[in-house]
Amino acid sequence: MSDTNEELRVSKIRDGTVIDHVTGGQALNVLAILGIDGEGDETVSIGMNVPSDKLGRKDVVKVEGRELSQSEVDVLSLIAPEATINIIRDFDVVDKNRVERTTSVTGILVCPNHNCITNADEPVRTEFEVFDNGVRCSYCGTIVREGDVAERIDARGVGETAL
Ligand SMILES: [Zn+2]
Repeated sequence: MSDTNEELRVSKIRDGTVIDHVTGGQALNVLAILGIDGEGDETVSIGMNVPSDKLGRKDVVKVEGRELSQSEVDVLSLIAPEATINIIRDFDVVDKNRVERTTSVTGILVCPNHNCITNADEPVRTEFEVFDNGVRCSYCGTIVREGDVAERIDARGVGETAL
């Protein structure tokens, strides 16, 4: 815990979430999962390719005034399996958890099959089963390989709203 506090001192946030130990190069995908595109009023700081003993290099994403939904954490676990989520209140880390790989993810990812019911005019919330090297659409069976998951993140950031 002490080294974490050291690390977070770089740019402390008062209340919000620090997503640490993100796989190097995935920070922008993390923002996409959170539906953050700079249009909203969230204050966000990003560290990219920060030296890390554990990962060699890592990304760090800090979001003020925001905690993550379970769906967001689930998708995060696919692209940044080593990530840790630190909840910050009044400048202190009050909770710290590793992401855990889940058996399914709902929302946030888009099915690549245009004929899938989840892409219909009245969309159904997407659901994918997670397996060893990818995810499979629960509705049409289309497989998204692990390396392609980031490309299937819904750019509209529907994870938090609608549906
Ligand atoms: Zn589908």
